[in-house]
Amino acid sequence: MKDVISESSQSRSTMPPELMGEHLGVAPFELPSLPYDYSDLEPIIDTETMKLHHDKHHRAYVDGLNKALEKYPDARGRSIEDILARINEFPSDIATTVHNMGGGHANHEFFWKVLSPRGGEGPKDELRQALESRFGDLDSFRKQFEEIGTKHFGSGWVLLVADPRTAGKLEIVSVHDQDTVIDLGKVALLSCDLWEHAYYLKYNNRRPDWLRSFWDVVNWNYVAEYFAKSRTQASRTQ
Ligand code: MN
Repeated sequence: MKDVISESSQSRSTMPPELMGEHLGVAPFELPSLPYDYSDLEPIIDTETMKLHHDKHHRAYVDGLNKALEKYPDARGRSIEDILARINEFPSDIATTVHNMGGGHANHEFFWKVLSPRGGEGPKDELRQALESRFGDLDSFRKQFEEIGTKHFGSGWVLLVADPRTAGKLEIVSVHDQDTVIDLGKVALLSCDLWEHAYYLKYNNRRPDWLRSFWDVVNWNYVAEYFAKSRTQASRTQ
């Protein structure tokens, strides 16, 4: 087991093959279109924020990533998960840029998927049971997620993750800037953007209000799908 951990943390992704490149395409990357309209997440996320967040911020990560990768043609055709998991293989002059821009692309692509105008109904079935058994009850889970997100200093993300190395154990973690849970060898199930660009126009400096409102636009069907896949991966790892 130790070997698996050190190997994966150094160079190999623990991402299940079916999650790799599934929704992100391969290099050179494209800005994905949103699975809903800019205004569909109102009033939780305002239209202006969605436009800026997707068209300007996410696009800047995709463009910055492609520009950095121009100097490294070997990256062509590779998924973003694969690139991020083997970032140490990149020349040092572009590794930081690829990590930051690539992380920004991967994090935002995932974030759009976990949002839905029909969100908020809460987790069901096995996912609900797993959250209850891990965190006590759903309120405690939400509270802990909000707390970790609120206390996180500066920009970053708060995420619900599964750890394939510990039988898919659920955890709440926060990461800085555009770090990803790929760096941690974990599988993301749900994320909330803590960068001010994600909430400042509507919530100003009130990050706790943003985190509290966020639940109303969570696409729990998508979270459940990823939870099921993480369990398949966990059983394979045992
Ligand atoms: Mn963002």
